[in-house]
Amino acid sequence: TRTLFVGGNFKMNGDLATLSKLVHQFNDADVDVESAEVVIAPPALYILPLKELCRKGIEVAAQNAHQLPAGAYTGEISLNQLKDIGLNWVILGHSERRTIFHETDELVAEKTAASLKAGVKVIFCIGETLEEREGNKTEQVLDRQVEALAKVIDEQSWEHIVVAYEPVWAIGTGKVATPEQAQDTHKHIREFIAKRVSQKVADDVRIIYGGSVNGKNSKELCSQPDIDGALVGGASLKPEFVDIIRSAE
Ligand code: 13P
Repeated sequence: TRTLFVGGNFKMNGDLATLSKLVHQFNDADVDVESAEVVIAPPALYILPLKELCRKGIEVAAQNAHQLPAGAYTGEISLNQLKDIGLNWVILGHSERRTIFHETDELVAEKTAASLKAGVKVIFCIGETLEEREGNKTEQVLDRQVEALAKVIDEQSWEHIVVAYEPVWAIGTGKVATPEQAQDTHKHIREFIAKRVSQKVADDVRIIYGGSVNGKNSKELCSQPDIDGALVGGASLKPEFVDIIRSAE
C-alpha cells in the first residue's frame, strides 16, 4: 500500500505575512498526518521561515534546484545547499520549468540524479501539452520523460521519487482531467515503469495528479486505484488545501 502524498506548489506567489498565515491555518487544521504525506513548496526565499512554522507532519520542498554542487552560477541554489538547511524534498521538471525555462528531459533527469545523490527526495513532474494529447502523443511523451530518468538512476533510487503527472492543459486552467482520463494515464505510467524498471518499483512508486485540483474534485481523483495523491497549485494557496489533504485520507 502506498501512502498518499499531497503537495502544495505555491509557485511565485505570496509574501511572508500571507504565507505564514496560511501555514498556521494548515497547522491548526485537524487532519490525520499519518494517512497522507504533506509537503508545501514555497518560493525559495520563504523556505526557511516557513519551515520553522510548519508543525510535524508538514514538510517543505524547493520548487527547483541546480544540478551542480557549487560554483559560479548566479541566481541558482544547489541541492547540497537545500540539504544543508534540512530540506528533504525538491520539485523538479515542473512544466513551467520545462517550457518557460527550457529545461530538457535530460537536464531534469540530471537534476534528479544529483538530488538523490545529495539526499534530497524528488517530486518528478511529467506531462503532455494539449497539442500532444490531441495528436495522440500522450503516452509517447510521458514514456520519453520517464525514460530519461530511468536511464540515469538505479532501481533502488526510485524509492525517493514521487512522480507527478501534470497534464500541461490542466495546469492553472480550471480544466481538470476527468478521473477516468487521469486514471488511464497513471495506469500507463505505472505499466511503463514496470516494463522499464521493475514490477516492484511500479507497485511502490507514488504517482500523483496535478492540474486544477481543488477541494471539490480531489476526492474522486485520489480514490482512483493508480492515483496516489495530488500536486496542487492555486488551491494550495487557500485554506481549501486542507480539504484536499482530508480527501486523500
Ligand atoms: P494548478 O493547481 O493551479 O492547476 O497548478 C498545478 C500545478 O502546476 C502544481 O504543480
